Amino acid sequence: MALTRRDFLGKTAGLGALAAASAASLIGQERRDVSYHLDKAAAQPVLELGSLKDPVIIESVDLLRKGNQHYVRVRSKDGAEGISLDNNRAKYLAPIFLQRVAPYFIGKDARQLEDHLWGLYRWGSNYKLQGLAFWSPVAWIEFAILDLLGRVAGRSIGDLLGGVIRKKIPFYVASGRRDSTPEEEIDYLRGLIDETGAKAIKYRVGGRMSRNEDASLGRTPKLIKLSRQELGDDMAIHADSNSSYDPLQAIDVGRMLEDIGAVYFEEPCPLDRLEDTRQVTDTLEIPVAGGEQEYSQWRFKWAIENRAVDIVQPDLHYYGGLIRSIRVSRMAELLNIPTTVHISGGFGFIYMLHFASRTPDIGGWQEYKRNIENYSDWFDPPLRIEDGSLTIPKGPGVGIVDTKEVLKGTERVSG
Ligand SMILES: [Mg+2]
Repeated sequence: MALTRRDFLGKTAGLGALAAASAASLIGQERRDVSYHLDKAAAQPVLELGSLKDPVIIESVDLLRKGNQHYVRVRSKDGAEGISLDNNRAKYLAPIFLQRVAPYFIGKDARQLEDHLWGLYRWGSNYKLQGLAFWSPVAWIEFAILDLLGRVAGRSIGDLLGGVIRKKIPFYVASGRRDSTPEEEIDYLRGLIDETGAKAIKYRVGGRMSRNEDASLGRTPKLIKLSRQELGDDMAIHADSNSSYDPLQAIDVGRMLEDIGAVYFEEPCPLDRLEDTRQVTDTLEIPVAGGEQEYSQWRFKWAIENRAVDIVQPDLHYYGGLIRSIRVSRMAELLNIPTTVHISGGFGFIYMLHFASRTPDIGGWQEYKRNIENYSDWFDPPLRIEDGSLTIPKGPGVGIVDTKEVLKGTERVSG
């Protein structure tokens, strides 16, 4: 059950009063506000590197490519190595990575990664680039540095980020289609369920950033109704409009989703129309999810503080990595808002697994893109699906056993 703002203030009044007292009367009453606690939660250190007593100095950062997949390789002065896989955007964001991100880290102590995220944001006025095109390259290097630190410490990324608290992650499979009739879509979803053993699904409603137009005439209402009829009462159903509706239309569609007992309604309104989204969230009973394109901690804070959404969904790549996403989840947690991250890129679900392994409230189901066979053998034990859940990579780092093998055949990309 979600806390109201008043409940929250009641729950934290003692803490707020203490904080106000220690800060004398400079800010006074305002210090007791939710805002203060959200900022405080976001500012807590994320990394736990107690076992790393010696500096881990970054000597080189390389961007590598094999086919359409890009990789980042970070090497320390001591010869340790960490790698990451991009979200299929390096093919056009490589110059930002090579010119605006990678050089900053040369000679830096990897253990100070949290501070470096801020330093990098300021460096050369990088904040002027703020957006998905900046934060995705930051995520690539963050993942690689976390892999490096994990390998040096002999611990998994989930452990470095506060400690693993769960062993399996329940998932939903997403259709991703809009070109289907409702009947075809049900058949398609049945296929995905049979293939993966999923107990939860997500389908698309509306026309995608379509100003209220449906993908085809009458598709959305019919699909919503059919999905419950055909997939049964036990199936956990999620729906995503991808920014399709104004508030009135979103509320209509949301009511239909309430009628079938859907889990949540994702991105009902255009992604940056937070007030519109809040209006929908205020009106509907069904939880509203959103935030996959968000890149500002302060706007996430606003969305959480003002309950613009009931579930926050930072994308681990678009939002700049695990540490920043954990900061969002810590703010959300204070108001009983789950963080169900969005994932991009084929390998992205591995980072999701690490995030989900250590985050207290991740909601019910995480996205799975049905590609485990491409990566499962990179890990020991190999990743598996068990009864609608994914197993989590064991450490160290991201958990890839043989990075040399993974990078075999790559070529270096230069600026
Ligand atoms: Mg979405």
